[in-house]
Amino acid sequence: MTKLRLAIVGAGPAGIYAADILLKAERNFDVSIDLFDRLPAPYGLVRYGVAPDHPRIKGIITALREVLDRGDIRVFGNVNFGTDITLDDLKKHYHAVIFATGAVRDADLDIPGIDLDGSYGAADFVSWFDGHPDVPRTWPLEAQSVAVIGNGNVALDVSRILAKHPEDLLSTEIPDNVYEGLKASPVTDVHVFGRRGPAQVKFTPLELRELGELRDVDMIVYDEDFDYDEASKAAITSNKQVMVIDKVLQKWRQRDVGTASRRLHLHFYAKPLEVVSDDEGRVAAFRYERTTPDAEGGVVGTGEIREVPIQAIYRAVGYFGSPLDGIPFDKRHGVIPNREGMVLKKGSNDVVPGVYATGWIKRGPVGLIGHTKSDAMETIKHVINGESNWWAPADPSEQGVIDLLEERGVKYTDLDGWHNLDQHEVKLGEPHGRARIKVVPREDMVAISRGEALGA
Ligand SMILES: Cc1cc2nc3c(=O)[nH]c(=O)nc-3n(C[C@H](O)[C@H](O)[C@H](O)COP(=O)(O)OP(=O)(O)OC[C@H]3O[C@@H](n4cnc5c(N)ncnc54)[C@H](O)[C@@H]3O)c2cc1C
Repeated sequence: MTKLRLAIVGAGPAGIYAADILLKAERNFDVSIDLFDRLPAPYGLVRYGVAPDHPRIKGIITALREVLDRGDIRVFGNVNFGTDITLDDLKKHYHAVIFATGAVRDADLDIPGIDLDGSYGAADFVSWFDGHPDVPRTWPLEAQSVAVIGNGNVALDVSRILAKHPEDLLSTEIPDNVYEGLKASPVTDVHVFGRRGPAQVKFTPLELRELGELRDVDMIVYDEDFDYDEASKAAITSNKQVMVIDKVLQKWRQRDVGTASRRLHLHFYAKPLEVVSDDEGRVAAFRYERTTPDAEGGVVGTGEIREVPIQAIYRAVGYFGSPLDGIPFDKRHGVIPNREGMVLKKGSNDVVPGVYATGWIKRGPVGLIGHTKSDAMETIKHVINGESNWWAPADPSEQGVIDLLEERGVKYTDLDGWHNLDQHEVKLGEPHGRARIKVVPREDMVAISRGEALGA
């Protein structure tokens, strides 16, 4: 073997880091990598998950882009694994594949009424405000009072975007349709509900503190949630992150409120029971059971049932991976079963030859972008040492896959195409003094990337 032809499916941070690490790694063979993504633009959830008003994190795109701009990784955007290209195709043209397809769906919240009109998954809303091409252009922002279920950073992102005055998002890359949608929103109250207490939240101090800096939004916390038990007190003294979170919340308890036109309420110790319907099948209220600490860092129900009138509800209870054709899938955890990135046969400890996984589809949807780097290192170590497991492709030529996509009429985009789209978006922003304005429709993204006339 002199050259490994490697396919990576998923051009999010996990896929890009894996390619970069392999190219830089010590090894006794050459490498040629093709990076596929179903979207016409790379960067996965950094482009389509990280909130638009987090420019510092969005800036990670610059580092990922530097990797691609080096020119030693071929990019094939707008190519969906499972339809445009299959496992058999990959086996014909590559020695191995790494799946880095992430997790883009909402995890389920199994309570009555969760499918009512006016009940949404956070992932769908995030996709909308981040200009994802595959979600509708409009979002029904008609509610005055909204509930957000969850106590992680995504719940805070969703709550912040709902509560923030849209003018304050105008310095970001949000597409015009998102600005117009948010501008029409009559929202006055956003209620965030967490099952446990302030010392057990999953969000980070930075994301929490930011809520208190929103213009014309009052932060409301409730004294009843701060009667800490011993386990909570211990968490606050022993964990710096929890300590800072407590400090931020305690400050808000002292603040005068009542002047802002919008309010963001944080409710703790609230176990979701039901989304209550009105006569027309629309969301009318959120019913929950008040919980109390169980002295071990968890909670138990108190039997006290409460109801808050709302007209929309968002569940932000986690993301979930999607199965890929021909690849083992763990339905319970929403991941590809693997041992340190080597994909395992269903219900067995045997590895599937030539197939690897990295990032959120390997590990589950937890952790920050930086974690996908250490993940990729582990997977790449096994790719390098796994030569005896690689496939023997019939046509490993670099032209083979291009011929295949062209024969199938797949309108793929490449690195030059991304540069075209990137420049186009930057130009759209210029007259408005904005860094960029995102192009949303997939056909426009593809046409601009490929240098074709819009609407052709
Ligand atoms: C709302 C939200 C906010 C976040 N904010 C932050 C933050 O502020 N800071 C931070 O560090 N982390 C943040 N994260 C976490 C971060 O986004 C993830 O850690 C990281 O994106 C995971 O990388 P990944 O490459 O595994 O998956 P992804 O980024 O999801 O990339 C997967 C890629 O695979 C592609 N793909 C999927 N299926 C197919 C297929 N069948 N064929 C071809 N391509 C496919 C997708 O289009 C996507 O481009 C946030 C996550 C979310 C959901």
